[in-house]
Amino acid sequence: MDPERYALENLAIWLGVGVERFRSLLTGEQLRELYASLVVQPIPPHERLLRRLLQPVMGSCPPGLRRVVTGILKQARNLTVNRHGRPKLAAPRNENGLQRDAGIFTVKMSGSHRSLFSLPGGDKSAWPWRFKGKKPERLRECSAARLFLELKELLGVDGIDWGGARSVVCLTHDVDNLEGYRFIEQVTAMEERYAVRSSFNFLTGWEYQIDPELISHLGRAGYEVGLHGLTHDIALGFRGRQEIRRQITAAIEGLPMRAEGFRAPALAVSQELLSVLDELGFAYDSSLSVTSRYFRGVGICLPYRYPGLNLWEVPLAIQDDTLFRDLRLSEEEGFQVMKELVEQVQALGGVAVINAHPCIIRKRPGFYQKLLEYLGEEEEEIRCIPVGALVRYLEGCRLTKEGKMQNAK
Ligand SMILES: [Zn+2]
Repeated sequence: MDPERYALENLAIWLGVGVERFRSLLTGEQLRELYASLVVQPIPPHERLLRRLLQPVMGSCPPGLRRVVTGILKQARNLTVNRHGRPKLAAPRNENGLQRDAGIFTVKMSGSHRSLFSLPGGDKSAWPWRFKGKKPERLRECSAARLFLELKELLGVDGIDWGGARSVVCLTHDVDNLEGYRFIEQVTAMEERYAVRSSFNFLTGWEYQIDPELISHLGRAGYEVGLHGLTHDIALGFRGRQEIRRQITAAIEGLPMRAEGFRAPALAVSQELLSVLDELGFAYDSSLSVTSRYFRGVGICLPYRYPGLNLWEVPLAIQDDTLFRDLRLSEEEGFQVMKELVEQVQALGGVAVINAHPCIIRKRPGFYQKLLEYLGEEEEEIRCIPVGALVRYLEGCRLTKEGKMQNAK
């Protein structure tokens, strides 16, 4: 596996031009840094252990408590020890004191002040690295989004063509429990009013029995049917390869339709899990985060070919539980954050993958209604399609004689 080649190939997809247009602008170090930011980060042993210990009791917890525990677990990745030897949670920072994954947006909370999402854009003096004229300076911190934005500007290109639109929004729904499963029809009814189609990711051996009739109805109506696992195993990716394979194979067998995509429960994703997905013929994974308050994200809201595998990674931009469970926003505030995020992704020319749990939409229908309304108003600028359809679109992109990446269809 050649890290530089993978980084270049993905940049070519994002920029929508051939590698030879920008190869000379980049150093090997930058490419290796970009590569490192796109691959899954190693998970610290304490988080692996915590998740494995807690999984057996999760099934007996009510869904609300489960969600809280999962939220705490995500923070465990960033557990460090303070100078008194007590554990503390800290945002990952590099030696310059910058948030390591400030690639696209960060969430900061202090006291009652909530500064939400900000894209590295306007104030370039704050960027940790830049090009000198056309020669790049040594890269101190890689943020894929910054690299992409700088290259776009230098080359004077718009980036990949999303079939006429400036950006893409993929709505996804992880069906975590019975409450969520029972609310699927209401979610599709809301989406149909705005001619929107989304992806539903199912668990096949958990609290609900999958009705084959529902699955075929979703498929016929243009929704994507994806997998979220067998049980909601919050340690799935951190188990042995055989166990990961056993669970996912069983999950596939429990689904009456072939799934192209996967989202790991509680985002328990690892290199091992991704390679099993590849082996089992999945087209994409959507378990890596663009950014996170607690751990380093991939730093770019654009799909990429996962290095060394025949698998796309379509990183997850935001989940509704971040807005309502972690930040405790109102429906209106939650919608405003979501809208701002979509606008930022639009300015970048990227893909915003949103996870809206049906069980959360049920309690906050106004929020989701507003989001759909907004996407409906922006339909000329923003393509709203299921992740699987986006991946097929990307698969169909080829470099034309004029050196532009285009989907011929
Ligand atoms: Zn889930």
